[in-house]
Amino acid sequence: MTPQRMRILSAIENSDNHINAEEIYAQVVAKYPKVNISTVYRTLELLKQLGLIYEIDLGAGHIGYHPEGRGHHHHLICRKCGAIIDVGESVLFPIQAILLQAFDFNAELRHLAIFGLCKNC
Ligand SMILES: [Zn+2]
Ligand SMILES: [Zn+2]
Repeated sequence: MTPQRMRILSAIENSDNHINAEEIYAQVVAKYPKVNISTVYRTLELLKQLGLIYEIDLGAGHIGYHPEGRGHHHHLICRKCGAIIDVGESVLFPIQAILLQAFDFNAELRHLAIFGLCKNC
């Protein structure tokens, strides 16, 4: 791990919401001015393959990141105001059971994005 990669990983670990590549880049470039955004994208790809971070589909082409340590959870995403509600993995266990029973399919539901409307909308 190079210092730049460590910086990218710690930006994700220290963020308490769903940090995106641009926000990560802004933090890294403040410390390493020579880093460009394509390095950030390449590093994110690598960290993802290493299983150190998870990529989350936030809808409308937006991607956010979580550190591995935050565990698996799903996201309820309001398509109107963009609010994101984290829900525990266990919420979808019944669906996994149904898919296994009905289709003999062992679904890996780890970071699912479910779109809809929140209570304020
Ligand atoms: Zn909403
Ligand atoms: Zn989350």
